[in-house]
Amino acid sequence: MSTPPVLSSLSNQQIRLASRPAGSPTRDNWNFTTEPVAEPGPQGVVVQTLCLSLDPAMRGWMNEGKSYIPPVGIGEVMRAGGIGRVIASQNADFPVGALVSGSLGVQAYCALPGDQLRRAGLVRIDPRVGSLTQWLNVLGMPGMTGYFGLMDVGQPKAGETVVVSGAAGAVGQTVGQLAKLKGCRVVGIAGGQAKCDFVVKELGFDACIDYKQGPVKDGLKAHCPQGVDIYFDNVGGEILDAVLTRINRKARIIICGAISQYNNPESIQGPKNYLSLLVNRARMEGIVVFDYADRYPQAIAELAGYLKDGRMKSREDVVEGLETFPEALLKLFSGENFGKLVLKVSD
Ligand code: NAP
Repeated sequence: MSTPPVLSSLSNQQIRLASRPAGSPTRDNWNFTTEPVAEPGPQGVVVQTLCLSLDPAMRGWMNEGKSYIPPVGIGEVMRAGGIGRVIASQNADFPVGALVSGSLGVQAYCALPGDQLRRAGLVRIDPRVGSLTQWLNVLGMPGMTGYFGLMDVGQPKAGETVVVSGAAGAVGQTVGQLAKLKGCRVVGIAGGQAKCDFVVKELGFDACIDYKQGPVKDGLKAHCPQGVDIYFDNVGGEILDAVLTRINRKARIIICGAISQYNNPESIQGPKNYLSLLVNRARMEGIVVFDYADRYPQAIAELAGYLKDGRMKSREDVVEGLETFPEALLKLFSGENFGKLVLKVSD
């Protein structure tokens, strides 16, 4: 192992929230700052960021107002989950050289005092179980979301039809493959032929509807002849409304996200067809992944097993350089990302 760097010789590049966007974020909403790297302090650690998870939720954290987690304050380093390497440590559980996952922020180094390790969700990761990018994808927050959203809220039964939007994305790829492993018929919804081909030919979905090519309703009619038992909703808006017209009795709709609405400067477009829930005695339920933190190890063990024996695949889209963060984030909303979007910060 190489000698740890002297902290005082390092400078920490950071990206801070400068202002709250109206609509799509721009470079003006960010401030680029540099500061010295702090010493770890009692029981603390300093982590060098290797790669960061870029998530649709970041758009919500930029807004003022109450959500399941407080907004990022103006002037604060932007919140981000990531993978890093411990480069200085006063904590025996996280020795120098250990690989860790946690809330590191959009910065090159993250100095965490001992009393903040838990809040940052710092845990060690094993690179033999999955690559660093897989630890941000199937084995990370999106994978946990897909796993518990589908298994706990959706409760799939073999033979049921599962529809998932954002199918080629981080959460969608886990949901669809897991539903197949549980014996379901799986139909994805994604933007563009390349993504639809990927989820069917590479990930083994039964079909995929290209929502940019024609009405989703027609695709559902063609590919879900028995109706829809579970809809895992990553996008909200018109696609949610279209699926509501095809649900079966006792269907479960998992409200995971509504990316089609996150940059909407007007009020969010809610479902017009919600009375379909009444007619079909169906339910719609939200999920917040952090509620399942205690059970992550169980889900990681199962998903890691599928990755290892090849029953599950993962795709990540890696963008390089901390300074590209403002533009890279926007890929999630234009659909330019193909797989879990990861920002590589350092080797
Ligand atoms: P992702 O799917 O990897 O990337 C976002 C994708 O959304 C884009 O690639 C794009 O795919 C699609 N999209 C963007 N604008 C759209 C629009 N107007 N209509 C339809 N699709 C659109 O992102 P992810 O990290 O897996 O997140 C997926 C969803 O899960 C998000 O809504 C996110 O907020 C939510 N989420 C929730 C939790 C939770 O705890 N509840 C946790 C993690 C994520 P196409 O090219 O196919 O359009």
